[in-house]
Amino acid sequence: MKEARMDCPSGHGKMALRKAKKRMTFRGAKIVVPIEQYRCPVCGIEAGTVNQAARIQKSIADAYRKAVNLLTGNEIVEKRKKLSLTQEALAKRMNVGIASIKRWEGGTIQSKSMDHALKIAFGGQSAGDSCIGNRTFSIPRIKLVLKEFESVLGKHILKKNDKMLFAAKYLWYADMVAHRETGEGMTGSTYAALPYGPQLNNYKDLIEDIMRADESTAKTLSPGEKKIITRIALKFPEERMIYEAAHKERIWKRQPNGAIIPYTDSAELTGL
Ligand SMILES: [Zn+2]
Repeated sequence: MKEARMDCPSGHGKMALRKAKKRMTFRGAKIVVPIEQYRCPVCGIEAGTVNQAARIQKSIADAYRKAVNLLTGNEIVEKRKKLSLTQEALAKRMNVGIASIKRWEGGTIQSKSMDHALKIAFGGQSAGDSCIGNRTFSIPRIKLVLKEFESVLGKHILKKNDKMLFAAKYLWYADMVAHRETGEGMTGSTYAALPYGPQLNNYKDLIEDIMRADESTAKTLSPGEKKIITRIALKFPEERMIYEAAHKERIWKRQPNGAIIPYTDSAELTGL
């Protein structure tokens, strides 16, 4: 990465390389980014090379990704290599184009849902535990859990054209309480912190599939899981009650809008 040193544009000769850390706000996140530039010791003018600019762009993207809990470019490369996956193999595993993998590794910021897909593709205990609660994601099981809630509550919580405003909260508590008490969730779902509380990540893409899913194909609920669902339903017989309880949870409150609420926070639940 050695580059020819720059000359001062005003003719003062060689400029000096200056490295610094710069604080900035990027997409609402406060980050610290290493900056390197050339500075003329005579007139103080600063300039950077194209390569330096590219490195700064990448540093900003990575500092941001770190700040909001997304995998950084280097982390994606490292995890991929650890699994001996080529970029192409990872792309296939995720059902995305190879160009996406190249961009994310190179410094383009992946969306939260793609970050989630990356973490699932990499498997790994820590990602599995924090995003999917040590369980394989299962849409039929989501349906099964919601049906169990409906039978205890004696009403429908999954409705046509549903935005899962309330259903997602019952689901979230079921997953989080199960994770806290048994070390694994019930459905493998990932939850995002949205303004209206914890929400099933990408629920818009999932809702149709949940409606159509055949819950009889899901692994049956254990007695312990049924007990947890009953406890939650009895504590929050009205949808408004679970909505309000979820809004008091600090593990939701402290996440920036759209960020994943990790299962590893389940110990800090207060509503139940
Ligand atoms: Zn100068």
